[in-house]
Amino acid sequence: MNPEELLAYDRRHVWHPYATIGDDAVASWWCVAHGHNHPAIVEAVRRQSERMSHVMFGGFTHEPAVELARRLAGIAPPGLDRVFFADSGSIAVEVAAKMAVQYQRAAGRPERCRLVALEGGYHGDTCCAMALSDPDGMHALFRGIMPRHFFAAKPRTRFGAAWEASDFDSMLRVVEEHGDEIAAMICEPVFQAANAMWFYHPRYLAEMRRLCDERGILLVFDEIAAGLHRTGPRWAHEHAGPGAATPDILCVGKALTGGHLTLAATIASERVAETISRGRPSAFMHGPTYMANPLACAAGCASLDLFAAGDCAAEARRVEARFRAGLAPLKALPNVADVRVLGAVGVAELRAMPRAEDVRRVILETGVWLRPFANFVSSIPPFVATDADLDRICEAIRAVCELPPGPPPDDPDFHE
Ligand SMILES: *Cc1c(COP(=O)(O)O)cnc(C)c1O
Repeated sequence: MNPEELLAYDRRHVWHPYATIGDDAVASWWCVAHGHNHPAIVEAVRRQSERMSHVMFGGFTHEPAVELARRLAGIAPPGLDRVFFADSGSIAVEVAAKMAVQYQRAAGRPERCRLVALEGGYHGDTCCAMALSDPDGMHALFRGIMPRHFFAAKPRTRFGAAWEASDFDSMLRVVEEHGDEIAAMICEPVFQAANAMWFYHPRYLAEMRRLCDERGILLVFDEIAAGLHRTGPRWAHEHAGPGAATPDILCVGKALTGGHLTLAATIASERVAETISRGRPSAFMHGPTYMANPLACAAGCASLDLFAAGDCAAEARRVEARFRAGLAPLKALPNVADVRVLGAVGVAELRAMPRAEDVRRVILETGVWLRPFANFVSSIPPFVATDADLDRICEAIRAVCELPPGPPPDDPDFHE
């Protein structure tokens, strides 16, 4: 097929994420940390494909999986070294939830089979992951088929502001009322990504840790968006200070393969793994067909080697400084409600969305692919973006912020 035929066929027959068949929509969604088609990752996948492209992970193991587990255990927070490979971020979250439930059961608390999550959170698009995401967010449509969990209010204290102790009251109330049914707490530490584009005070995480310890609840950090230096340090929860908020289970994804193949991991502490293995059944009950796919694991190893070879914390600080300089002045624009920058994430929150065709024109004119959703225009660029690239991105964001507001969304329950 020629390019026109490809497009025509695509438009008629292929679903794209969050789109009707017939729309156009493309995105790399924050995973391409080292840039597209990085030669080292491409070469690692090519080499692996000549040796073994896939083998079942039940009863077998292989070098790329072991090497990747070793690398992950080496960079995971202290005490977390048991690695479960999942096919995507959403599955990694499902696996974390199942681990928590199986852990409590093995520990003699089978009635603990719910989780508590945060309003404004996002944990993925599969059923269990949706059920842990903001209850009024983009998944409200599917409430009927979702398991019910508990929610604490979205943390209000901004990153960098003075901590307000009352910010934790809602979580205290939930645990007070339902503590004996709760297997685990889950959150996106510091950076609530897809549903809120919000940075909150890391003290919240230390409070979670303390309360979990008091009540025998496991703490799950979903660092699928925030991890691997996106907010500066390797893990966003490190903003809380050394040892202040170490999770029992950590989910990693997106940048894990640098956007080359789909892969995520759920990393648990020895205590979680050992407790599960002493229970009945002693096996952890999850096993995807493509678990630990060797090509994906080879890409993961190469990507983590690139993270190790570079100074991504410094790169994130460079992006942060550039974004602060470029985006802070946008606060003065009439359609801009707020501007937020942390690490290599820049967000302008609009009062009203411009019309889609106006945004499309800005994208074509600037050559910068922005994908505004809800009321946010944001950028989560690869670390290889140069200062000139970042300035161009800021200019494109400014151009979107200066567009006239469009009509209100026709369906208030679902705004893309
Ligand atoms: C993207 C994301 C997920 C889901 O990952 P997929 O690979 O898209 O399934 C889960 N949690 C967070 C925080 C994410 O940003």
